Amino acid sequence: MMKVFNILILSVLIILTNAKAQLKIVTTYPYIASITQEIVKDKAKVDFLAAGNLDPHFVVPKPSLAVKLRNADLLIINGAQLEIGWLPPLLDQANNAKIRPSASGFLDLSQYVRLIEKPENVSRAMGDVHPEGNPHFHLDPYNIPILSDAITTKLCKLEPENCSYYQENNKLFKSKWNEKLKQWNSALEKLKGTKVIEYHKLYDYFINRYGLVLSGAIEPLPGIPPTGKHLENLIEIIKTQNVKLIMQDVYHPLKPAQFLNQKTGIKYIVIPHDVGAVPEAKDIFSLFDEIVKRLTNE
Ligand SMILES: [Zn+2]
Repeated sequence: MMKVFNILILSVLIILTNAKAQLKIVTTYPYIASITQEIVKDKAKVDFLAAGNLDPHFVVPKPSLAVKLRNADLLIINGAQLEIGWLPPLLDQANNAKIRPSASGFLDLSQYVRLIEKPENVSRAMGDVHPEGNPHFHLDPYNIPILSDAITTKLCKLEPENCSYYQENNKLFKSKWNEKLKQWNSALEKLKGTKVIEYHKLYDYFINRYGLVLSGAIEPLPGIPPTGKHLENLIEIIKTQNVKLIMQDVYHPLKPAQFLNQKTGIKYIVIPHDVGAVPEAKDIFSLFDEIVKRLTNE
């Protein structure tokens, strides 16, 4: 009898341990989910909210997203106000105390990197969607290991029993990443000094990292569509400064880039900004592989 009882206790313990192992992590963007997946492997369930091929600033807060948040143990966000337009109402609907911004199940990645382009004085009323500085820091591949460290530290706090496993995976991830960095660095070497224009100020961290020169943006202010006058100014800049390339994202209209191409002959390339932005960008590694490929294949 005692034996049966012991077996029962043991089974309950095993079930409890397994249930605990299934930490539910939700990230706002697919790129964060991909990094997190590299660290947790099969020890947690990782899901994300925003589709990688849509505008990250303006996600439709569908009820299905609130359901994901309701069941989450950990929420990892990009931060720097990238989610400000859509995440707060979802958090209200989800009503999950575990992942509130002040709770232990919340991680804001922007706290770990140095933001560029912090405005001196700006209000969102002007339409600028980057009031705290440029939030697209994940497109500097050197920021990725910083983010994976922050995620690992958070996971270790939530699950000390799995900490060494997460740390080991993070170490492997970073050594793989460093190998890829060498490849990307040497492939991009030839683009140093190339003058570029982008639609949205999405690629600034990447541009700075690889020594490209940003000559302008199709949006006069982040989040504000171009006027005819602004495009005329860009034509002038492209011609006089010999700008070589438009870095176009997947979710803004292609028309202005096509117009500038017709007027000046400048070439444009569609560059993925997140995992899932194009079919080739399947995870954090192939996202950067694809960015480098598209920029250097011409
Ligand atoms: Zn932006």
